[in-house]
Amino acid sequence: MTRTVFVNGDYLPEDEAKVSIFDRAFLMADGVYEVTSVLGGKLIDFAGHSKRLERSLNELDIKKPAVFDDLLEIHRELVRVNEIDDGLVYLQITRGAPGDRDFVFPDPETTEPTVVLFTQNKPGLADSPAAKTGMKIISIEDVRWGRRDIKTVQLLYPSMGKMMAKKAGADDAWMVQDGHVTEGTSNNAYIIKGNTIITRALSNDILHGITRAAVLRFAKEAQMQVEERNFTIDEAKNADEAFITSASAFVMPVIEIDGVSLGDGTPGARTARLREIYLDESRKVAI
Ligand code: PMP
Repeated sequence: MTRTVFVNGDYLPEDEAKVSIFDRAFLMADGVYEVTSVLGGKLIDFAGHSKRLERSLNELDIKKPAVFDDLLEIHRELVRVNEIDDGLVYLQITRGAPGDRDFVFPDPETTEPTVVLFTQNKPGLADSPAAKTGMKIISIEDVRWGRRDIKTVQLLYPSMGKMMAKKAGADDAWMVQDGHVTEGTSNNAYIIKGNTIITRALSNDILHGITRAAVLRFAKEAQMQVEERNFTIDEAKNADEAFITSASAFVMPVIEIDGVSLGDGTPGARTARLREIYLDESRKVAI
């Protein structure tokens, strides 16, 4: 089956979808994105992703596209026509294609934002083997720009970080700035000590994860303590458990950091419980 994608108002077969070579995202990474997971044909936390998308656009002064209010309907239509049971919907909005290359932003009156959405089919997304085996991570320096709270398509360093991890025989990397963990290459980072979950507080240093917000809320409801503060890689190596969260991985256990096993080297019980609660509760309110 040929995948149907959405480009600037049209539903098209993927091989007919086109974007200009002058698109600002292609030339300058001048665009933002969201990834929403689909479980059982329904969107997980769409409202949260939509709200963050609006904030990203505002922070970069990118005009809201005309289809902004139709995005839920477009997500649902793509899930329907592509017969996605479990998978992802990727959405990208750029400052548009002004017809030439210029550092100065184009006039929003004459240059419309580019809107692209496509689905990724991931059967069994919530049953990933990594949830049972756990992930090995390495630490790398965080050399990204200072507005990581905006979900831009500048993903070169996160991509390089994943390659550094792969080369080191690990699954992913946590980034470290001034001695403290910021976040994973494409996820938020947590450690657990006793009954307390520790994760970096929200600021411009990290992406304000939609999964993070939900998981911290569920953790408090499950009588776990939450401390939003900085932690070091050494503190993480000595933690009882560690995990990551993202819209596509949900809650995923970390069992090794820079070659050091955490606890007994297997996924922790509290992490497993958080994953279960997150998946159960999110499915209940999926739309
Ligand atoms: N941090 C970074 C750098 C990310 O790329 C992501 C995933 N896009 C996250 C955190 C997790 O955010 P979310 O839970 O909204 O997917």
